[in-house]
Amino acid sequence: MGFSFDRCPMNRAETKAVTTLSPPVDAGISIGTIDLTKSYGSTTSPVYALRGVTLEVMRGERVSLLGKSGSGKSTLLNLLGGLDHATSGGLRVGGHDLDQLSRRELARFRSATVGMIFQSFNLIPSRTALENVELPMVFAGRNPRERRDSAREALESVGLGERLRHRPTEMSGGENQRVAVARALVNRPEIVLADEPTGNLDSGTAQQVMGLILDHVRRHSATLVLVTHDEELARTCTDRVIRLKDGRLLS
Ligand code: ADP
Ligand code: MG
Repeated sequence: MGFSFDRCPMNRAETKAVTTLSPPVDAGISIGTIDLTKSYGSTTSPVYALRGVTLEVMRGERVSLLGKSGSGKSTLLNLLGGLDHATSGGLRVGGHDLDQLSRRELARFRSATVGMIFQSFNLIPSRTALENVELPMVFAGRNPRERRDSAREALESVGLGERLRHRPTEMSGGENQRVAVARALVNRPEIVLADEPTGNLDSGTAQQVMGLILDHVRRHSATLVLVTHDEELARTCTDRVIRLKDGRLLS
């Protein structure tokens, strides 16, 4: 509805050819939630962050998630990424029922099935760019040499081939977010969850970072859930806009 990917500024011409070569989008469901709730605090005075969210996202679909601060966007994304447990309700992501997974399976899910990108980068400050990007490959059972090579390649692909040994404090916000994008995408996740990924960046850098995310999504027919405040970005670069208010989806 009103979708106009041609108007998406990050829909760069040179990557369009790839789109036509990628396989047709599978009709399957990538993300499904049923009456998902999440509350914080004690059972006697709980704070409800999500109040019964039922949602379906198809494989390869790009969805943006909008809503005021405190409406539950990050809570929902963290549940989808297996970073937190729901209070009640059903949650199936990338073919996995998340509440059925063992710790080990969940760790694997987080490193291989989903790629998460956060507003504040969430890099490990004491580690170099290369080491940060290597981390998700540890769970994927890749040997150290492969990890190093893939991490280097991923950093080169986001334009940071010259920053491999830099630590987060030695780089700009845009560079840090590009490291975080490389880390999120290095295992080629089928689902990308991005929580205001450009919220801390100037507009030029923001465009570059969004371009990298959308490029991955297009090349791999990945599913994208993008939390953003940018209505224009949501309208032109994603297939569907969903809105949260006080922990509920607006239809
Ligand atoms: P958004 O990302 O849309 O700004 P959040 O998902 O961060 O919203 O928060 C939704 C609600 O849940 C808010 O009322 C927030 O204060 C509350 N909340 C989020 N995380 C916690 C937490 N760890 N402990 C207690 N309350 C929380
Ligand atoms: Mg948030």
